[in-house]
Amino acid sequence: MTPLPKRRHSTRRQGKRQAALSLKLPSLLTCPNCGSLRLPHRVCEYCGYYGGKQVMTVKSKDKKSAKGGSASGRKK
Ligand SMILES: [Zn+2]
Repeated sequence: MTPLPKRRHSTRRQGKRQAALSLKLPSLLTCPNCGSLRLPHRVCEYCGYYGGKQVMTVKSKDKKSAKGGSASGRKK
């Protein structure tokens, strides 16, 4: 039998857990090619490099802001 929770968690308890999760900042690395911040295991948005090689071409370099849109590039 699958272990089941005895009682449901209250919304307060659920909210406290979710609030603690939201406090974590995303781990960012600096791109070795261009020096901008990127997410780990993702292609750099600005130069398209991953693992010391260019794996994709960046269409528009003059983005207004990095936030919004997809933060993760494709791996291949
Ligand atoms: Zn880069």
